[in-house]
Amino acid sequence: MTLPAPLAPHSVIGILGGGQLAKMLVQAAAELGFRAAIYSDDWGPALDVAGSHLIGPYENLARLDEFARAVDVVTYEFENVPVVAAEHLARRVAVRPGPQALRVAQDRSVEKAFIAGLGIPVAPFVAVREASDVAAAAATMAGWQSPAILKTARLGYDGKGQARVAVPGDLAAAFAGLGSVPAVLERRIDFAFEISVIGVRAQDGSLACYDVPRNTHEGGILRSSVVPAGLSAAIDARARDVAGRIASALDYVGVLGVEMFYLGDKSTTPLLVNEIAPRVHNSGHWTMDACAVSQFENHIRAVAGWPLGTTARHSNAEMRNLIGHEADAWPALAADRDLCLHLYGKREARQGRKMGHVTRLAPRGP
Ligand code: ATP
Ligand code: MG
Repeated sequence: MTLPAPLAPHSVIGILGGGQLAKMLVQAAAELGFRAAIYSDDWGPALDVAGSHLIGPYENLARLDEFARAVDVVTYEFENVPVVAAEHLARRVAVRPGPQALRVAQDRSVEKAFIAGLGIPVAPFVAVREASDVAAAAATMAGWQSPAILKTARLGYDGKGQARVAVPGDLAAAFAGLGSVPAVLERRIDFAFEISVIGVRAQDGSLACYDVPRNTHEGGILRSSVVPAGLSAAIDARARDVAGRIASALDYVGVLGVEMFYLGDKSTTPLLVNEIAPRVHNSGHWTMDACAVSQFENHIRAVAGWPLGTTARHSNAEMRNLIGHEADAWPALAADRDLCLHLYGKREARQGRKMGHVTRLAPRGP
C-alpha cells in the first residue's frame, strides 16, 4: 500500500470544533508551518487563533462542501461530530481519524461491545435502551451485588448524562431522570485509581504512547493528571498494549485517549477500559510542558502524514484543570514561577467549565 504524500507546510488543516482542544491543535499546527481552518456550530476560543473559520450546523452539507474545498485534511476535536458530516467530508477530502472511530466512540453500547469484542476487559454493563429494558437490567444489576452508574449512550461528557444507581429498585427513576433515552448501566468499579493512555498512531501504522498519567476526577470532571503514575512495569506495558490494540482495530490515525480503571496488581482484571476518546485528551495536556513534542503536535504530524515526533518526557508533571471561577485567580497563578499557565480565552466562566490548566514540572526521577 502506498501512503499519501505528507502534507507540506502551508497546507491547511481543517478542524471540526472550535473549543480549547481545537485551539491547541491550531497552535501546534502553526508551529509546523501549517495553516488551520475551523468549522464549528458556535463561537469558540479556537476562532481567536485559526486563520479562517466557518460557522454552521454540522448537518449543513453545502457549508461542509465549502469547508472541504478550503482544507487539505480534516480532523476533529470532539467525538460528537455527526457521523454523516464526517462521511460527507470523507468523500471529498481525507478525514483523520476516519469516521469509523467516531461511530464507535459516539455510542457507549457500541464502544463497550467493540472493546470487549477485542478481548479487552471493560466494566460489566448492560444496555438500557427503553423503559421495557429496565426490569431485565435491574435483575442483571442485582447479580453484580454492587451500586451502578447509568450513563446515556450518547452525548455525555464531563460526567454529564450520568446517574448513580444505589440499588436495582432505583433504576427506573434514574432512567426516567436521564430523559428515558438509550443508556448503559455499568457496575460501579472500586478502582485503586484511574489512568489513561495517550497514544498516537501514524498513517504507516506505527504507534507511540506518552507515559501513562494517573487521573483524578471530581464530580465527573477531570481534576488532575500526574506522571509518573506509579504503575508497575508490567501493568504499564499492558495499558499501552491495550491502547495499541484498540488503535490498530480502528485503523486509527492521530492521537487516541484510552481511559482505564486500575484495580490493583492483585486483581484478576487489573485494568478495565472505561472509554475511548478519538482525539487529543485532557489527561495529555501536561505533554505541552513536559515533552519536547506535545500530544497536539503529534496529532497534527499524524494527520498530515508526517513521521511521529518523540513521546519522551523530560520532566515529571502534575496538570490541574482550572474549572469555572478557579481561572479568576490568574494573577496569582501567573506569579507562581513553578507553574506553566494555560488559559483558553473563553469569554464566560461557567460552573464546571474548563477555563484553562496549569502544569507543575519537577525534575524527572530515575
Ligand atoms: P469525561 O468527559 O470526563 O471523560 P464522561 O462524561 O465521558 O467523562 P466517564 O468517563 O464515563 O464520563 O465517567 C466520568 C468519571 O466518572 C470517570 O472518569 C470515573 O471517575 C467515574 N466513573 C465512570 N464510570 C464509572 C464506573 N463504572 N465505576 C466507577 N467510577 C466510574
Ligand atoms: Mg471519561
